[in-house]
Amino acid sequence: MNKQYDYIIAGAGCAGMSLLMRMVVDPFFASKKILVVDADAKQQNDRTWCFWETKPDLFESIVHHQWTKLNFYSNHYSSELSIDPYTYKMIRGLDFYNYVKTNALAAPNIEWRKASVKKLVDTTFEFIGTNDLAGVELVDGEIIYAEYVFSSILFEPIKAAADEYHFLQHFKGWEIKTVTDCFDSSKAVFMDFRVGQEQGTTFMYVLPTSANTALIEYTLFTEQLLADDDYNAALKKYIAEQLHINDFEILHEEKGVIPMTTKKFSYAKGRNIFIGIAGGQAKASSGYAFKFIQKRTAQLIEAIKKGKDLTYGKTMNDTKGHLYDAVLLHVLHFHKMPGDEIFAAIFKGNKANNVLAFLDNESSILTDLKIMSSVPTRIFLPAALKELL
Ligand SMILES: Cc1cc2nc3c(=O)[nH]c(=O)nc-3n(C[C@H](O)[C@H](O)[C@H](O)COP(=O)(O)OP(=O)(O)OC[C@H]3O[C@@H](n4cnc5c(N)ncnc54)[C@H](O)[C@@H]3O)c2cc1C
Repeated sequence: MNKQYDYIIAGAGCAGMSLLMRMVVDPFFASKKILVVDADAKQQNDRTWCFWETKPDLFESIVHHQWTKLNFYSNHYSSELSIDPYTYKMIRGLDFYNYVKTNALAAPNIEWRKASVKKLVDTTFEFIGTNDLAGVELVDGEIIYAEYVFSSILFEPIKAAADEYHFLQHFKGWEIKTVTDCFDSSKAVFMDFRVGQEQGTTFMYVLPTSANTALIEYTLFTEQLLADDDYNAALKKYIAEQLHINDFEILHEEKGVIPMTTKKFSYAKGRNIFIGIAGGQAKASSGYAFKFIQKRTAQLIEAIKKGKDLTYGKTMNDTKGHLYDAVLLHVLHFHKMPGDEIFAAIFKGNKANNVLAFLDNESSILTDLKIMSSVPTRIFLPAALKELL
């Protein structure tokens, strides 16, 4: 078998296209043969990404809206959060897919295949004399080889082991248009916990993009999904009772499920490198993944350029943030303290920018200690000791 491509990007969603875009803008990759394979044409606006950052990154030109002021609401504590130096940003899925496709299609060294990948192939442990290659086997049986495959494909549902916690962050969002002006588009609601907490940690996001349009998302951290009608009823109730809006139309709907898990993800198998959710890039305590995907893909680009061996590396499981995530999921799993009270205590006791840095796994140990001291020690210390040991 021979190498047909330098790199194969298997799965062209957030992680695959983020890596691809970083290759497109970097002259180092202009001479590399790159194949992108995805089963889907990526023509749907199937998700909206929100994230915070201190300076513009690669996708700044397609940021749909941004906010410098966020509000936090709960029955225990509410406040306007001062997030400086961060800006909270929104990118629409379809804008992202179109932007990357447009740029990549102009590059002669990049090929696209709309095809379903059956499995990844790895020749690392085959007989001596074989080049170490990675590959993808398509459903029609064709096998394509490359020096590295970067895969974001989840070939099977994520299953946690008995001693790992596995929550689902699941949500339904409505982009609504109101008849009269109802929103201040300079402020977003980061979390509003003033909704029923019977199912588990439950909150709303309100992301206004103009005076009469906003994306409103009903979000839960639980172990089971809800029936579709339950999400609709909660959105309707919140819009009427909390936002006092009765006259609106739904422009767009989106639904999603993100794993919040302490499962150990592999970094790579041979020359198949895992990226995105498949590489454990969703933060277990928040479900946010977009920024982690950006950091990981930027690191991979640097590693390739420096000629580093990509087959070994650290996953998010190896960071101190993973321990903090495990402690939070432990407390939620054993119902030791409700999620709305935990987030209220954290936002009450800390500067919002420090909390955002903490959620990004970028805070200093001093900030971590301050955040940990803002939640009850009698609950969190035993949980931390249990997870540490
Ligand atoms: C609705 C929604 C909203 C979200 N909002 C946010 C947010 O606001 N902020 C945030 O940080 N995170 C958010 N996330 C979480 C995370 O950022 C996204 O899930 C992100 O898309 C994950 O990127 P990925 O590349 O791992 O997976 P995906 O983007 O899902 O990409 C995987 C790709 O693999 C392809 N594929 C799958 N199977 C095969 C196969 N067998 N053969 C070929 N191709 C295949 C798929 O078509 C897809 O294109 C959201 C997730 C969802 C679902």
